[in-house]
Amino acid sequence: MKIQTLAEFYTLMRQSRNDRQQLTNMHFNKEHIAPEDIQPLEKALTALKNINTRDNQYHLELTEDKTIALDLSYEMNELEKDIFFLTHSPEEFYAYLESLHPDFSAEVNAGLERLKDISFRNFITDRDGTVNNYCGRYASSIQSIYNAVFLTRFAQKVNNAVILTSAPLDNIGLVDISVSPDNIFIYAGSKGREYFDKQGQRHQFPVEPDKQSKLDIFNQQLTDLVKQPEYEMFTLIGSGLQFKFGQTTIARQDISKTIPAQESEDFLNLITNIVQKIDPQKKYFRIEDTGKDIEVILTIENADESGELKDFDKGDAVDFLNKDLHLQLAQGPNLICGDTKSDVPMVPAAMAHSQDTWAVFVTEDPELKTLVQNTCPNTLIVSRPDVLVMILNKKQ
Ligand SMILES: [Mg+2]
Repeated sequence: MKIQTLAEFYTLMRQSRNDRQQLTNMHFNKEHIAPEDIQPLEKALTALKNINTRDNQYHLELTEDKTIALDLSYEMNELEKDIFFLTHSPEEFYAYLESLHPDFSAEVNAGLERLKDISFRNFITDRDGTVNNYCGRYASSIQSIYNAVFLTRFAQKVNNAVILTSAPLDNIGLVDISVSPDNIFIYAGSKGREYFDKQGQRHQFPVEPDKQSKLDIFNQQLTDLVKQPEYEMFTLIGSGLQFKFGQTTIARQDISKTIPAQESEDFLNLITNIVQKIDPQKKYFRIEDTGKDIEVILTIENADESGELKDFDKGDAVDFLNKDLHLQLAQGPNLICGDTKSDVPMVPAAMAHSQDTWAVFVTEDPELKTLVQNTCPNTLIVSRPDVLVMILNKKQ
C-alpha cells in the first residue's frame, strides 16, 4: 500500500491504534502472540517508510496542489520499538532502550533507588513528553504497546491512576490514541475539565451557561472561518482544530513551519479580533498563544476570596478530580508527573492535600528543574519519557 495523502496517513495510524489495543489486551490476557498477529504493525511501518521523500523529508498531499513535509520519527520509532518488544524478552527490550538512550540504566537505577519503599496511592500524570514520547501531531501520537504495558502494570499497583492532558478527551482526543486495557486509567482531557472514570462514564467541570454560550458563538464563527479555502490548512497542520470542554485550540503553525511567518501572524490577529468582538470586556476568554497553537480558554473565578478571573489550570483540575472522584489525595503518597511549566500547578495542588507528594518531571530545562525542586522537596528529574515509564514498570 502506498500512502500519498495526509488523510490516508491518519487512516493508517488509526488502524495501528486498533491493532495495538488488541495486542495489548492479548498481552495482559496471557494469550500467545504469533508472528501473524504482529504483521499489521510491520506492514504499517513499511507503508510509512515508503512515503515519498524530498530533501530528506517525508511529503504527503494536503490538498490537490499543496503538500506537507512531515517528521515521522515518532510514528516509525514507536512501531519499531513495539515490534521489538513483542518479539524479544523483557531483558532484550531493556537492552534495546539502553542502546537508544545514553545513561538510560543509570537514570532508571537512580530513579528506582529514590522511589523505593514508597507505595503510591495516587498517580496523576501528564501524557505528552512525560509518559509518552513527544509527537508533533496529536492525531497520530498513538500510544505504543510497550508503553501501555509498562503504565498499566504500575497503574494496577495504585488506587487511582489519572492521565491528565490539555488535549481533548475524545473526538480525536486522549481516548482515541490510548491503547491500555479498559477500566485501568481515569482519562482527563481539556486540562481536566472533563474526564472518563474507570467505568468509561463521562463527567464534566461545571461551566456557567452564559460562558458556554459565548464559547459556542466563537466556535461557530471559527468553524465558518476555517471552511474558507484560504484558512482550511490551519485545521490540517500541527494541533489542527480542537474543540475541548471550556477551551478551543486552533493551530497557526507546526514544527516544520509549514505556514509562512506573516500568514501565521495574520491568522493570530484575525482570531484575536473575533474574540474581542464577542468579548470586548475580556470577561469570558483568555487567549494563550504558544507560537504554534492559539488557545481560547474560558475563565474561571479564583478559588480564593479575591474572586479574580483566571485560566483553569491543571492545579484546578487536581482539586476538581480529587473532589469528584474521591481520590483521597490527603492520604498520600501521591505521585505527580509532568514535563512542562503548565504541569507544575499539579504539584502544589496535591501538596496542599498531603505533604507526602512526589514530583517526577521529565525535562532537560534547568529553569523548569529548579522550579519543580523549589516547589516540592521530593523531586526526581529524568531526561526522557522512556526512562520514566521503565522506572514505573520496574517499581515494586
Ligand atoms: Mg506534556
